Amino acid sequence: MNMRRYLFATLAILMGATFAQEASARLRVTTTTTDLAALARTVGGEHVDVYSLSRPLQDAHYLDATPGMVVRISRSDLFIENGLELEMGWVPEVIRDTRNRRVRPGGPGHVDASAGIQAIQVPDRIMRDMGDVHPSGNPHYTLEPVVSQQAARNIADGLIRVAPQHADDFRANLQAYIDRSDEVVAAWQTKFEPHAGAQVIIYHKHFDYMLKKLGLDIVAAMEPLPGLAPSARHIAGLIAQYRDADTIRAVIMEPWHDQRVGRQVADAIGVPLLILCPTVGSCEGADDLIGLFETNAAKVLEALKK
Ligand SMILES: [Zn+2]
Repeated sequence: MNMRRYLFATLAILMGATFAQEASARLRVTTTTTDLAALARTVGGEHVDVYSLSRPLQDAHYLDATPGMVVRISRSDLFIENGLELEMGWVPEVIRDTRNRRVRPGGPGHVDASAGIQAIQVPDRIMRDMGDVHPSGNPHYTLEPVVSQQAARNIADGLIRVAPQHADDFRANLQAYIDRSDEVVAAWQTKFEPHAGAQVIIYHKHFDYMLKKLGLDIVAAMEPLPGLAPSARHIAGLIAQYRDADTIRAVIMEPWHDQRVGRQVADAIGVPLLILCPTVGSCEGADDLIGLFETNAAKVLEALKK
């Protein structure tokens, strides 16, 4: 082989290697929920491959730890969890079994997306042993545009830690998300203003950050404690209290709880039963968080106009 051809061949091999490296250089990001996966895709853009451990219609309070989850997290560059004890029933077990120290709490590849978020509904007294699945306050902050921005910041920080070479892209994507979600909230202000203070009854405290942002007044929950199924007596009490009040505008719940209970309360009070999208990917139009916010807000507005 002459020198020129040798150099050419070497160059081709080097270029091939570079391309191969770039193709596999997308960061492997694992999240506990589809909401966090959507945020990671928004902020990570072309630099990430994202996988959610829960499916859209799975309630992340109640997943079971599996060996597959351990493998998935062990092979990840970044592991993002919701925090505020949303995943207390399964993530600690998965983390304990992973050999990848980098993605454990305290490692550079670990993100608690709730860091810096002021949780609402922090209980005075922890009732974890009575089945309270919100012992650190309400963990469902990803459903509210402005609060979700802090989760996006935490995710951007994590991505920058593991791939500082793309920091400018992550920061630009983060800013675009903040601007877009601010626009969404600004548009709500005029739409929801006439309905400020409208009263609703909920099932689980899933949409509370969002409903509060829309200016609604959540007067009662069908679950006596988050995670504790309602007794017939509790439901009868709710109905007796609100049947003749004529102030309730809707009963709001998640698709994964017993809709017969919601239907019973809504019919008895004479208001619509509204099933909102609990997660990204769980209904049409909710392909990312912005879509989720808009889809839920549109459903609520429609019910309020009735
Ligand atoms: Zn919950």
